[in-house]
Amino acid sequence: MMNSITTHPAKQHMAILGGGCAGLSLAARVADWPDMAMTVIDHPDHKPRQDHNWGCWSINGLEDALAMARKTWPQWAIITDAGIHKQSSDHHPYMAIESKAWLNHCRIQARQQGVTFTAARLTDITVNDQHVSLAADPALPLFQHVADSRPPALPDGIMLQHFRGVEIKTEHDVFDPDCAILMDFRCDQSRGIHFIYVLPYAKNRALVESTMFSTELAPEDFYDTAIADYCDHILHAGKTMTLRREEGVIPMGFLSPRDNQVAAIGGNGGAIRPSSGYAFVFIQRQMEQALTKYKHTGQVTFKPPHKPVDLWMDAVFLAVIRRQPALAPRLFAAIAKALTGDEMAMFMSGLATSRLRFKIIMAMPKWPFIKALLSRPWKMIT
Ligand SMILES: Cc1cc2nc3c(=O)[nH]c(=O)nc-3n(C[C@H](O)[C@H](O)[C@H](O)COP(=O)(O)OP(=O)(O)OC[C@H]3O[C@@H](n4cnc5c(N)ncnc54)[C@H](O)[C@@H]3O)c2cc1C
Repeated sequence: MMNSITTHPAKQHMAILGGGCAGLSLAARVADWPDMAMTVIDHPDHKPRQDHNWGCWSINGLEDALAMARKTWPQWAIITDAGIHKQSSDHHPYMAIESKAWLNHCRIQARQQGVTFTAARLTDITVNDQHVSLAADPALPLFQHVADSRPPALPDGIMLQHFRGVEIKTEHDVFDPDCAILMDFRCDQSRGIHFIYVLPYAKNRALVESTMFSTELAPEDFYDTAIADYCDHILHAGKTMTLRREEGVIPMGFLSPRDNQVAAIGGNGGAIRPSSGYAFVFIQRQMEQALTKYKHTGQVTFKPPHKPVDLWMDAVFLAVIRRQPALAPRLFAAIAKALTGDEMAMFMSGLATSRLRFKIIMAMPKWPFIKALLSRPWKMIT
């Protein structure tokens, strides 16, 4: 049975598979795509993920996100046993956007601009010169274009960023509301690279997250214990009240798209930065680049938004921390020490210049990187 999607005879029609960050960020800007209609297709069993934060630096192109950010921080820090490395930027503060707020904003924009939303169980995709046919229950019309954000398969042994966090209210004023803590390594390192991430919303209120980079997830109580220990022994927070929880697993590596026949977007389209797990800023850039290309050439193509040199650096960096996880605190601290706040914001947002990349390379200990280079880790991305 054909469902109730309106077809637009004068327009081309794009199916967006998946109504998450990438799918909805694309659909929200349908009016910018001349002569394009869009339909967002999600799985009928889709349950919205619990609300969580997207953290990133405020840079050009993220004005909409900045306008709805829950909070911005002009300073941020990386902390190890050896000390605290603080950076600051008035031009590019760190910011947190609530996922529900962003997704709702995009959904409303998309609906107002005529995007159709439907739930369908996809079973097959067939592509020919004229159109793409999506076999689905309920049946779908033919499309000229498909942007696929369904999560890709994860290769065995891939590095994962996995975390559990709590937003808490503390008895004592223990947070600096002007300074986000990106990584505090003063926590249990026995299972691999582990740090605490803190987004302070007020002196007595923050998101505190236990985050690991490793190939294996930890038992839930590992993260919870780490947070409790941090609150007790590092922050001396007194009694804490849990306001909400968030958790997630983000692949850190080089993934093949779920279906090579159609354009891939978001995490499926290589938007997650392999060495950091940051994706929000890169998803927005991927959409901007695709729109620019469409306006100039009429072609619909979505490309991974990272520069090849950044992916190459990420591959080498990941090879180093996989081989020597104990080095991670020193490496992250060295990057923070070598760069100004503005430079850090640019580098983490994929906008580094060659000079900036050179600065980072020079700040790294040489021998672990030479050994990693010899293992030719970029084979993963070529
Ligand atoms: C808890 C969490 C915190 C994060 N924090 C940050 C952060 O601080 N900063 C940052 O930059 N990045 C962060 N990320 C990473 C990244 O921003 C997100 O993973 C982002 O949501 C990726 O967007 P996406 O659209 O590719 O995938 P998703 O948002 O996961 O969307 C995929 C969509 O596909 C749908 N789908 C799945 N299967 C099917 C199917 N068979 N048919 C149709 N639809 C289907 C799903 O229902 C979903 O709607 C975080 C990720 C998580 C999970």
